[in-house]
Amino acid sequence: MTTPEISFEFFPPQNLEASFRLWDTVQVLSPLDPRFVSVTYGAGGTTRDLTRDAVATLHKSSGLNVAAHLTCVNASRAETLAIADQFASAGVNDIVALRGDPPKGAGGFTQHEDGFANSVELIEALADTGKFNIRVGAYPDRHPEATGPDSDVDWLKRKIDAGASEALTQFFFEADTFFRFRDKCAKAGIDHVLTPGILPIENWKGARNFARRCGTVIPQWLDDAFETAMRDSREDLLATAICTELCSELLDGGVDKLHFYTMNRPELTRDVCHALGVAPKVSLENVA
Ligand code: FAD
Repeated sequence: MTTPEISFEFFPPQNLEASFRLWDTVQVLSPLDPRFVSVTYGAGGTTRDLTRDAVATLHKSSGLNVAAHLTCVNASRAETLAIADQFASAGVNDIVALRGDPPKGAGGFTQHEDGFANSVELIEALADTGKFNIRVGAYPDRHPEATGPDSDVDWLKRKIDAGASEALTQFFFEADTFFRFRDKCAKAGIDHVLTPGILPIENWKGARNFARRCGTVIPQWLDDAFETAMRDSREDLLATAICTELCSELLDGGVDKLHFYTMNRPELTRDVCHALGVAPKVSLENVA
């Protein structure tokens, strides 16, 4: 099994306590030498300023390669591109470009009257600037808005053709889900990097609700395993074992990059990375 290259997703903190938690998360995970870390953009564009500040602070003070998420929701084209420009001015040239979801309870995505209609338009506009390395989302389980069995693959192809360099997938619970999607992508001529998104399950009830909202299929065996583990207070042990097993199967199947949804809680992600052989990088001056 190869040792994977890893990356981590964080969300921007909304208060002082959350800022400390993000900082702790960065301290715990940065020694694992991630390829990049990304910072989400709240549903409905709600964390626009927080995302910008967190991205700029992480870029300046952590020494990590930072990617900023950017969505098209609730903003005109000019506003969205101005935010991208602010990222570039701060020295951040990696963007995860998404159509995005509206805030909870607001129904489906509606285009702003002067805004981008979809992710492809956003990717094209970002690519036209020539300033960004653009990553995009991909959906191994069917996205709730997919119109047919292959529409997520067809749409991903359009996003790659528009200028994306890599796709990060939504989380999924079984390795075969990813492998089937990877095969379909290859058949459609997508030869760009397809990096599995991994959700370490800190809290099964929360993860199950999240999965239902995203369209991620929940296998019965997984639900049964967590129901039993929760009765015996063994949820943490099970979460580590299940996540490590999923990652190992992916690596055995030829995957060499993993993207972890950390939810700003570093321990489980760190334990899984250690189990996969990702060792902390210690600088020589700290050893001497
Ligand atoms: P797209 O890929 O554009 O669309 C999703 C699917 O819908 C497509 O695969 C296709 O089947 C269908 N579809 C959409 N538009 C069309 C069209 N015009 N024609 C035909 N089919 C279409 N959300 C946030 O709000 N903030 C974040 O920071 C954030 N980060 C994310 C990071 C990753 C890695 C992923 C996978 C998702 C993230 N999301 C985030 C969630 C994402 O915004 C939602 O899943 C949203 O519903 C789709 O955004 P997208 O750009 O991936 O969509």
